[in-house]
Amino acid sequence: MRALWFCIPAYGHTNPTIEVVRELTRRGHEVRYYSFEEFREKIEGAGAQFVPCDSYLPPIDAKVEGRLRKVSTTEMSVQSFRTVANLDPLVSADIASWRPDVVVTDSACFWGKLAAAKHGLPWVCSTTTFAFNQQSSKYMRHSAAELADIIFGLPRLNREIRKLRPLGYQVKSALDIVSNKPDDNTIVYTSRTFQPCSETFDEAHYRFVGPSVRDVPPREKDGRPLVYASLGTVINDHPDFYRTLIDALRDTNADLLISCGKAFDPAQLGELPSNVRVEQYVDQMDVLSRTSLFVTHCGMNSASEGMWMGVPELLFPLTGEQRAVARRVAEVGAGVALEERVARDAAALRKAVVAALADERLREGASRMREDLRSCSGPAGAADFIEQVARVS
Ligand code: UDP
Repeated sequence: MRALWFCIPAYGHTNPTIEVVRELTRRGHEVRYYSFEEFREKIEGAGAQFVPCDSYLPPIDAKVEGRLRKVSTTEMSVQSFRTVANLDPLVSADIASWRPDVVVTDSACFWGKLAAAKHGLPWVCSTTTFAFNQQSSKYMRHSAAELADIIFGLPRLNREIRKLRPLGYQVKSALDIVSNKPDDNTIVYTSRTFQPCSETFDEAHYRFVGPSVRDVPPREKDGRPLVYASLGTVINDHPDFYRTLIDALRDTNADLLISCGKAFDPAQLGELPSNVRVEQYVDQMDVLSRTSLFVTHCGMNSASEGMWMGVPELLFPLTGEQRAVARRVAEVGAGVALEERVARDAAALRKAVVAALADERLREGASRMREDLRSCSGPAGAADFIEQVARVS
């Protein structure tokens, strides 16, 4: 079997696919993976052919870069539509000559999804967040700024969509591309338990294969509990929040480790109490293996990794999608929400951390989710499904 794979340039969307690619190539299938230089090593290491797309991304100026850094849905969609047009000659020629049996594409990768539709190929959607249909998307609460960005951006998007028609791409809207349709064959990297409104996704088309994480053995948590905080790798420039957290845990019997990202130098936070360490990047799975409480922005990967390791979570989401993940972590009993007002007040935050550390039910909820996620079919289940779609078609 030949699988043509497409993904966007994002760790959170690429990482979960790697073990699936490895499993397919191990079974003797050919995988040709369209991605970006920073992921070349991982992709080739999993046995796939790598096709670099870096030079097909549209050039961006400082203004656009600023909007992308704020995760503007409109800007990301505009850039994606332009990438579809830039990649069209390469992808169309490749499909004609290589003749793949199946396309596997990330749910947010416009050029993969639209190529499969244009060339009438069987395809599988690789979904690293939740599957979002009309029901489950109600979990995503957008802020006023996010909504304004989406609404006022519509005319710009429609202009980009019109430009794609002469190339053979029939596009309704950006939302139509990214939403999960009932009949789309879809791999979701979580469990049915964690997916919101999972009863609205049928067994024939949806495979909930569980998170694809690098496992590490848990370590004994004796002595001082470790509180680990991270706001992920994208929107982590929140020195005020880190300062409040440091103040909250000053002079407590817990240790605090913050991964603050690369947006600023940790030295900016001034002299730290002896029980606090701040790093720009850590080996998160290794840290989680000795963590008692995870203060997380609820990126799908971080939230899943916390649950995979059975670590209770204090939930501090910053975007609509993260709010959806946070709500679900709370619903399954593996975390508690951290209100904005509490996150701004060291004394209140200290109380919230102490209460979460002592919460037996939270620990039980996190352990339950640990078992649940580990019972999924994993990369082998995802590979079976891709084979099945290619065969049936
Ligand atoms: N991560 C890490 N070390 C860090 C911070 C993050 O290894 O110091 C990893 C983390 O394990 C996760 C990914 O980066 O796999 C972050 O993905 P997520 O979806 O949670 O958030 P995003 O960065 O996309 O907002």
